[in-house]
Amino acid sequence: MLNGVLDPIITPVMNTYQRAPIHLQKGKGSYVWDMEGDKYLDFTSGIATCNLGHVPDTVKKALEEQLDMLWHCSNLYHIHVQEKLASILTDISCMDQVFFCNSGAEANEAAIKLARINANNLKKNVSPVIVTFKQSFHGRTLATLSATGQAKVQKGFDPLMPGFHYLTYNDAQDLKEIETICPIAVMLELVQGEGGVIPANKEWVKELVTICKKNNILLIVDEVQTGMGRTGTMFAYEQYDIEPDIVTLAKGLGSGFPIGAMLAKGSVAQAFVPGTHGSTFGGNPLAAAAGLATVKFLISHIISKNNEMITYLWNQLNHLNEAHPTITAIQGKGLLIGIVVDCNANQLVEAARKKGVLILTAGQNVVRLLPPLTIRKEEIDQFINSFNKILYEMEGCIQ
Ligand SMILES: *Cc1c(COP(=O)(O)O)cnc(C)c1O
Repeated sequence: MLNGVLDPIITPVMNTYQRAPIHLQKGKGSYVWDMEGDKYLDFTSGIATCNLGHVPDTVKKALEEQLDMLWHCSNLYHIHVQEKLASILTDISCMDQVFFCNSGAEANEAAIKLARINANNLKKNVSPVIVTFKQSFHGRTLATLSATGQAKVQKGFDPLMPGFHYLTYNDAQDLKEIETICPIAVMLELVQGEGGVIPANKEWVKELVTICKKNNILLIVDEVQTGMGRTGTMFAYEQYDIEPDIVTLAKGLGSGFPIGAMLAKGSVAQAFVPGTHGSTFGGNPLAAAAGLATVKFLISHIISKNNEMITYLWNQLNHLNEAHPTITAIQGKGLLIGIVVDCNANQLVEAARKKGVLILTAGQNVVRLLPPLTIRKEEIDQFINSFNKILYEMEGCIQ
């Protein structure tokens, strides 16, 4: 209420999201319950965040143990659990050092700062341009929305931060421009998540990496959505046989506990020295404990062990594709999946919710599926049955 004036639209929470009319209160595994007690199959995982399902026992236990020890201390002291998480992340990646923060946007901010200071250290008077791609998404802070190649994210926030040049994703012709632009870095999603679940073409990425190597241009891979097993491997870059210079992580890293990370290789990582960057909460003991338990579980129980479920879901989706004219394509990687439809995707999201299934969109005509990586066969069947019914109803067929 503002000045006693009742307005049903104004709530004390700022109006920045298009919210569905339910209040989620509880979750376990692949299911969530709202305040009315209604149960939903969750194929959103808090947008690729709860990759181990809701309230996973292993992370809960790690958090409980850490709750009894130390909640927070500043980064002016060494934090053992943070060092353990950094050590495991560098062991399983081609990276050497990690900077911890609290979100995907912050991880990308750190990557942009690192690329700039690295270029500054190497050569003076460089024009510090970073190439990004149209339809990309890198975050909502001023630097990362400037990096994002979507007008709808940038509209109304001028002046944007200078220093970004947008090329067309998967376009071989546009790659030729890179040598003319001579950027300090290229920032890339290997599957554009928010932009429509569009995987990068393998040959195109190879060509891009060759150009970067030849011209000493850093390759930053934004794995905020694709990382932590989401695409079938721990990091999506593994499937492209490439080694980025910088990788950013967040969403799935803490199983729902907020944490972000920016990983970098050798000399690039060392461009950050005391005083160049920082974060009060970054890599805080609770967040690091959640991250450590998550990564350990992904290594021991998920990566390379859920291929069967991934194949099963894709096969079922391909059957749906054959049966329904509404579906025009299935795209994505692993459990980051886009169903391209020739109708308004929001309509399907709403219909699914009414049938007790939560799904997402990625743009106007793409339904996005992000089931937990712990998804079971009977849960996949439940989703397929519900979605099949919704499509038949929409197509006006009687089932
Ligand atoms: C979600 C996302 C971000 C932003 O992460 P926040 O934690 O919301 O700041 C950045 N990049 C990609 C690819 C994302 O999917």
